[in-house]
Amino acid sequence: MTERLYLTDPYLQTFHARVLELREHNGKPAAVLDRTAFYPEGGGQPGDRGTLGGARVLDTQDHDGAVLHLLDKAIAGEVEAQLDWDRRFDHMQQHHGQHLLSAAFDKAGAPTVSFHLGERTCTIDLDAALGKLDLRKTERETNQSIWRNLPVVARDFSGEERARLSLRKEPVKGDRVVLVEGVDASPCGGTHPARTGEVGCVAILRAQRWGGGAASPSDGSSPRGGASNGKTRVEFVCGNRAVQLLHEASDAVAAAADALKCAPADLAASVARVSAESQARRKSLEALQGELAKVEAAQLRARFGAAPVVARLERGAAFARAVAQAISAEGGTALIASTEDGRGHLCFARPKGAGPAMGALLKESLALLSGKGGGSPDFAQGAGDPARLDEALALAAAKLSTG
Ligand SMILES: [Zn+2]
Repeated sequence: MTERLYLTDPYLQTFHARVLELREHNGKPAAVLDRTAFYPEGGGQPGDRGTLGGARVLDTQDHDGAVLHLLDKAIAGEVEAQLDWDRRFDHMQQHHGQHLLSAAFDKAGAPTVSFHLGERTCTIDLDAALGKLDLRKTERETNQSIWRNLPVVARDFSGEERARLSLRKEPVKGDRVVLVEGVDASPCGGTHPARTGEVGCVAILRAQRWGGGAASPSDGSSPRGGASNGKTRVEFVCGNRAVQLLHEASDAVAAAADALKCAPADLAASVARVSAESQARRKSLEALQGELAKVEAAQLRARFGAAPVVARLERGAAFARAVAQAISAEGGTALIASTEDGRGHLCFARPKGAGPAMGALLKESLALLSGKGGGSPDFAQGAGDPARLDEALALAAAKLSTG
């Protein structure tokens, strides 16, 4: 049986140990030691990494009561061990911050269902509707618990002493409790700092409806009480992760401000102005294209005279459509081909009333392009493989003259 040193001293970073057994686990050598400070994954906290002798510890897992150190190569005998302490301390900040955050949500009537400590951020799932939570208030209360720098007690509690504790959740296994007097008592086998202050701070990033709650009506009018309560997923970071995310956010804002040639503080106003300008430009561009289409239509009508206009235009499908519509509005018939985004487009138009069926004509031409489209007797459009676009246009022109 391995002596779990991290339970009594979560700050232990280096130690000597003897390899009791070398197994194979998921294709990797896995060492069982007589003693270890490596925390095996559990309770939402990932397993530790570091080195054992000359081997790298890739992960630490609890397997049938044994602590398995998954290695990149085999080891034996007495070894010197070194934890990846930056990573472990980060996990202690996130995990203890989660206890304090869950305690504050619990006080507000939102019990924690599960906890995930991710690579970048952490999440807790709460058994409460998003609308019933005051996230900023809970965040503030949690930070106050951190900044009061209260002692954290993590040890086994039993008998009368245990009975006096008001536990936030039912224990899964063992008697170990993590206690912050007056704030939280929670059964947990994880690694925690000696004082709450080491968490640094907690920042709630976002919260969203989650699981069954996502489909429930927000007004709470669901006939079943359970469904209307809903669940919430809260994403947060603690300690150094808050600093890292702030750097990332600042860099992103600075890059955006740089691109817009404004001060970071003026970013929102600049984005709003650029967006309004681009919308105005798009409208005037559309108006100009409409004018250009009318000019193009008039030139084509002059060239083709009384005959149907058959042409290939290279200003995109929307322009081709505008030209076809301008021609038909003036009493002419137009068969226009164009290309856009690597697709061949066809647009057929004639004046309303009696006349050849444009939809049927298009269908036959599109068959050559293996394309899709449709329309009415006086207007039809579609697109497909551009390789036989000219052939498809010629087919429609021939059908129109003989039909
Ligand atoms: Zn815990």
